[in-house]
Amino acid sequence: MLIVFHNFVVSITYEYMIKDNNVIIEDRQGEIIEGSQSSKHSDTKKLYIESYGCQMNFSDSEVVASILKEKGYSTTRNIDDAQVVLINTCSIRDNAEKRVRNRLTEFKKKKRDNPELVVGILGCMAERLKKSLLEQEKLVDLVAGPDAYRDLPNLIDEVGTGQRAVNVLLSRDETYADISPVRLDKGGISAFVTIMRGCDNMCSFCVVPFTRGRERSRDPETIVQECKDLFSKGYREVTLLGQNVDSYRWNISNKGEIKNPDKPTVNFAQLMEKVALVSPDLRVRFSTSHPKDMTDDVLRTMASYENICSYIHLPVQSGNSNVLTRMNRGYSREWYLKRIQAIHEIIPDCAVSTDVISGFCGETEEEHLDTLSLMDEVKYDFAYMFKYSERPKTLAERKFEDDIPDEVKSKRLSEIIEKQLKYSLESNKKRVGCVERVLVEGESKRSDEHMCGRTNRNSMVVFAKGDFNKGSYINVKILDCTSATLIGEVI
Ligand code: SAM
Ligand code: SF4
Repeated sequence: MLIVFHNFVVSITYEYMIKDNNVIIEDRQGEIIEGSQSSKHSDTKKLYIESYGCQMNFSDSEVVASILKEKGYSTTRNIDDAQVVLINTCSIRDNAEKRVRNRLTEFKKKKRDNPELVVGILGCMAERLKKSLLEQEKLVDLVAGPDAYRDLPNLIDEVGTGQRAVNVLLSRDETYADISPVRLDKGGISAFVTIMRGCDNMCSFCVVPFTRGRERSRDPETIVQECKDLFSKGYREVTLLGQNVDSYRWNISNKGEIKNPDKPTVNFAQLMEKVALVSPDLRVRFSTSHPKDMTDDVLRTMASYENICSYIHLPVQSGNSNVLTRMNRGYSREWYLKRIQAIHEIIPDCAVSTDVISGFCGETEEEHLDTLSLMDEVKYDFAYMFKYSERPKTLAERKFEDDIPDEVKSKRLSEIIEKQLKYSLESNKKRVGCVERVLVEGESKRSDEHMCGRTNRNSMVVFAKGDFNKGSYINVKILDCTSATLIGEVI
């Protein structure tokens, strides 16, 4: 069901919210996370951690909780119980930063009541805003960039001695490979596993290469071990995470040369296969693929294993080749459409989602119409849609003018959203009457009388509550749908 309030649309059916004309992963922004494992230390100190932004940040918060657990911290959902408050931040768009700043102002009030409280900022905003947050606005005591989490115990100690502590050094090889993350999700069924960090792509609009540094891949053995461990603890789904998973490579240089001939090489298709072999009952997903790098090998591996989900997130950003060149994406509209064709040829019935940006620098009305026409051609099952937000230091900021008026960006975004809602609904309607294999995730967040789970194609399904265990697979006949959710009965 869709409810329309003035200028924002809330899809009350579960997955996402379109608010102020921006789509965000509603269920997770600002999530306070709490692990089930307590610290081995008896004098447990409490850590409160909130996360914003992409899945990578949520995954990083689990690494942070693990590092601090070793130092006697356990996580809490109650900020008033905490000695350390951390906020894991996102810089991808200006409104993401604003949201974090508002939270920091609220934390400052807590600190006034409790001067011993350590308030720290982690993640992508750390490097960019360390000076202003630490010295000018004095909003935080501690700043740690995405590659500095091992240093957090020392940084917290430094704050204890009355100093402001900062480490925003980016690394060429930190992957936290040996750290077994404390799982902070409540479900215990689906986990994120980071396989690589950083990005070398330099899309002109994107701040990630500046905030997260150079691309590096994690040792495949540690990835497989983590997935085995998750499976043994009852998890039934892993999502392999990276900014550009298709450029995952182990023991291969960025020029494609073998680094150590005595050791095996592993590319993304091979890694995915290794993870799929952990168990046929462990579903494998991944995010994000880059259209210029996604190989047929990856698609063929997906097609060969039933437990690798038939779902690809393939961000297009724009449907116009000139805009794509200005964005420095490394592919044209035609190339992108050929990749979509390859997906459908090799993996029939594969769901495809995307990211789209409206109003990038210099975007003409015709160029915008090309994005809409590409959406008509591809008919995405799902999309994340954004207004262009200029980010400091990026190529676009240095090279182009952010010249599309905000009203035009918003109008174009509304047209993109409208189209996507139509195709999301169409895609879901095609499933009505089908029987879907669903991995049960637990109770529906919106209704006490329903449970929910996902299909292989990543669609959320709700069904009447019954005696079904979380983590089991059930068959659900789809009876109805909205643009965001399938509604069915267990058969
Ligand atoms: N690495 C992934 C890729 O290449 O598609 C995505 C990374 S980014 C965290 C997620 C999405 O945010 C991008 O695909 C893009 O659509 C959007 N995004 C990034 N920078 C943006 C900006 N400056 N303004 C608006 N949207 C942006
Ligand atoms: Fe940003 Fe492009 Fe890297 Fe994605 S691939 S993180 S959009 S630079």
